Amino acid sequence: MPLKTPIEYVDSLRALSIRAYVNGELVTNVVDHPSIAPHINTVAKTYELAHVLEYQDTMTTLSHLSGERIHRYTHIFQSPDDLVKKIQMLRLLGQTTGTCFQRCVGLDAINAVYAVSYEVDAAKSTDYHERFKEYLGYIQREDLMVVGAMTDPKGHRAQKPSDQADADQFVRVVERPPDGVVIRGAKVHNTGGINSHEILVLPGMGLKPGEEDYAIACAVPADAEGVIFIFGRQSNDTRKLEEGCDIGNTRFGVVGGEALIVFDDVFVPNDRVFLNGEVEHCGQLVNYFATWHRANYGGCKGGNADVLIGATAKMTRILGTDKSAIVKDKLIEMIHRNETTYASAIGASAMGQVLPCGSFMVDPIAANTVKLNITRNVYEIGRLSHDLSGGFLATMPDAKSFDNPEISHWVRKYHTANPEYDVMDRVRVGRYIENMTSVTTMVEAMHGAGSPQAQRIAMFGLAKIDEKIKMADDVIYGTDDVPGLSLPKVNG
Ligand code: SF4
Repeated sequence: MPLKTPIEYVDSLRALSIRAYVNGELVTNVVDHPSIAPHINTVAKTYELAHVLEYQDTMTTLSHLSGERIHRYTHIFQSPDDLVKKIQMLRLLGQTTGTCFQRCVGLDAINAVYAVSYEVDAAKSTDYHERFKEYLGYIQREDLMVVGAMTDPKGHRAQKPSDQADADQFVRVVERPPDGVVIRGAKVHNTGGINSHEILVLPGMGLKPGEEDYAIACAVPADAEGVIFIFGRQSNDTRKLEEGCDIGNTRFGVVGGEALIVFDDVFVPNDRVFLNGEVEHCGQLVNYFATWHRANYGGCKGGNADVLIGATAKMTRILGTDKSAIVKDKLIEMIHRNETTYASAIGASAMGQVLPCGSFMVDPIAANTVKLNITRNVYEIGRLSHDLSGGFLATMPDAKSFDNPEISHWVRKYHTANPEYDVMDRVRVGRYIENMTSVTTMVEAMHGAGSPQAQRIAMFGLAKIDEKIKMADDVIYGTDDVPGLSLPKVNG
């Protein structure tokens, strides 16, 4: 059965020769670096839960290619039920880790390439889809983690790729030898990139004729020659290098451990190239990816918020405020906002529609609504958590102060609240809340899967305003009433 165990995932990463830099230094092996370890531990949970019988239906499914049982993170959505199960899987993983578990970008990327390669073949008689199915079979058999690499650095935002002063601001093909392509450029914000086995490179935006070199979708092993990972900084990230509870989410880290991936003239053989110059299909590829990914946020942030609500409710008990009606009402508001986004993600999935290739797409306007609500509700849920937890989130002394015998009795004494709880419970829960409502977490909710304006534009385009005007006209001016009723007369 092609399902890796957590240990096999870690061992398989260790076997790769990934060229990665953290804090400006070359890392010997990503598995052994303390800044990366919590993110690897999080992904290991996605592998672990696939072996738990209770979660088998949520975490695994049967491959439509081989009929074998595979991880849902390597699956092509075959029905609305698959889309719903994905959201349920995301909520479960969010509840288990309380952070980003990183594999959804790759999942949505493989689905987007699967769908668009089919459409390109139908339009141009190419063979990308069969190539991609071969590659997907490999991913499913080996149960690999794929990072979807989509966002280009973009250089001058007002200029198109071909007008940039530096042509490498968007990943592009710089050579086309007979057996493949050579790509150059970089992708930014790559969630889980540094601890993935494979990179699936996609164009980051719709392209026009004349921009064929940028229209490239291809798969690159994480340790391919010329691939360089540069790990991003997070709020308070040096705390991960310390001992003790100041780190916050000590076991699973904060957000996904994003990395810049540089492609320094990387050769990609033809069997790993799935789009090469077909500019007219790039917009649809980005659209498919973004729509699937936007619906995800109702699942993963729902699970993360469950943990945050739990931590906040526990904090009210530690503080002794939990019996207050006002406190309960604020917890209810947090729950209400969380369940609203989760319900719309389930709705977007249940209303999924079949694509030409036979896979399923979530309802686009509902998916965009999910993500737009996330950009508000995650902040509001965080605001309420801060409100209920109190100012000490921002002022509590560090763990070393609690350990120093010269002052520990003071800091313990003056941070004790409800005596039923040890003061260190207040600190540990408080540090979790602090970290999971930090700038890094909030900004990820705001800009991940596209900034709010991208959702607004998509929603307005999908909203069928003319149909809504007709509905209004029919209600206001309609005459198709039951004859003989004493309805009021309208002048004019
Ligand atoms: Fe998955 Fe959510 Fe992380 Fe995106 S932000 S990769 S949907 S857990």
